[in-house]
Amino acid sequence: MATKKRSSAARRKPKPLAEYNRKRDFTRTAEPSGRVGKAAAKRALHFVIQKHAASHLHYDFRLELDGVMKSWAVPKGPSYDPAVRRLAMEVEDHPIEYNTFEGTIPKGQYGGGTVMLWDRGTYEAEDGGGVESLRDGYERGDLKILLHGKRLEGGWVLVRMRRDDSGRAQWLLIKHRDDTADPSFDVTDDVTTSVASGRTMEQIATRKGRVWNSNRNESAKKRSATTKAKKTAKRSAAKRSTAKRTAKKSTRKSVRKRAKSA
Ligand code: MN
Repeated sequence: MATKKRSSAARRKPKPLAEYNRKRDFTRTAEPSGRVGKAAAKRALHFVIQKHAASHLHYDFRLELDGVMKSWAVPKGPSYDPAVRRLAMEVEDHPIEYNTFEGTIPKGQYGGGTVMLWDRGTYEAEDGGGVESLRDGYERGDLKILLHGKRLEGGWVLVRMRRDDSGRAQWLLIKHRDDTADPSFDVTDDVTTSVASGRTMEQIATRKGRVWNSNRNESAKKRSATTKAKKTAKRSAAKRSTAKRTAKKSTRKSVRKRAKSA
């Protein structure tokens, strides 16, 4: 008898993003509240990787699928070495608005700490089968994808290993053996700045004006915080463009390195 025993976790979920919303107090954190986004029809699907210094440093790997960001916490981050398998613990779906989140989450709140936009871009099914193929791969626990990011490129696979007692799935993130693979390129060690702002974790953490805090319910407070953030941004613009140039240079260098070894 053919058993179709898949996605019991998905069936348990009352509604999309319910777990995301339940875990967060939006009067305390300015992370976006969870609403399901529009499913991408013709436009490319996005991915984002956020370096997150919470109680333990990890990289949040997020893939857009059906109006939410499927999410995994990868303690060691991705590796360009096809021989390396990186543990990726599936976490709750995140809203698409989370893709622009960089800053700090207040201490004591869920995930409290510093969040950096480490990479972003578009992605697709490696077999060219579109969203159907991605859904199928996700359900089967064998998700083969092509990333088109600034730091991550080429073929990768997420393979589901097992679920823990709470139904949380453990996956492995593995680089495919293609012409972007490079065992000598330690990307998490090499690339330590934000893909969005060029800032380091320390710079993000100490930028007080940009803390995504709050119990600020009044819009006046919000406005003043925005103005403050804008001023801060202006002040550090010069610094940042230097950081950006450095980041670009190092990425180009590694791309060259990869091209040479191909
Ligand atoms: Mn995280």
